[in-house]
Amino acid sequence: MAILRRPDTDRGAGSRQDAGGCKETKVFEGSCLCGGIRYRLSAEPGDFGYCHCASCRKAGGAGHSANAPIGRADFHLEHGAALLREYESSPGKFRVFCGHCGSPIYAYLGAAPDVLRLRLGSLDTPFLRQPLAHTWVSDKAQWEPIDDDIPQFDTFAPPTLLRRRGAGESR
Ligand SMILES: [Zn+2]
Ligand SMILES: [Zn+2]
Repeated sequence: MAILRRPDTDRGAGSRQDAGGCKETKVFEGSCLCGGIRYRLSAEPGDFGYCHCASCRKAGGAGHSANAPIGRADFHLEHGAALLREYESSPGKFRVFCGHCGSPIYAYLGAAPDVLRLRLGSLDTPFLRQPLAHTWVSDKAQWEPIDDDIPQFDTFAPPTLLRRRGAGESR
């Protein structure tokens, strides 16, 4: 006989993963470079673009970042809470990373703390969505060519194309 479970109530203190294997949502797992931080997502990250802004380039040490929104309630830190560090890269924008290896994990806005912008490079589970836009191309590194057909924008993409869920997206 099936046991009905309430649809994802908030994890209470000490509650563990559901023992019965909820199959209705795919579980995504991720980690930092050193493995000290491990997380699990109980929802799929949303639409994303490639952000070429200078802050994202410096925060990730790469030509652009790929950040997708995920509800904070769907982000479950499995290990490494003591390693998490936050840096306020611009007023009200916090970038969260591993204090041991430096891997960026997510960012969020103080004004919208319930939505995280997950750094997709930290995912271990395959994620099949494709980017919808190149944003902040005005800040782009000269050494990184863009040779695909994904639309490019000098700053943010229009919300009709890419909703700015939970973050000024970049900067
Ligand atoms: Zn680490
Ligand atoms: Zn950015």
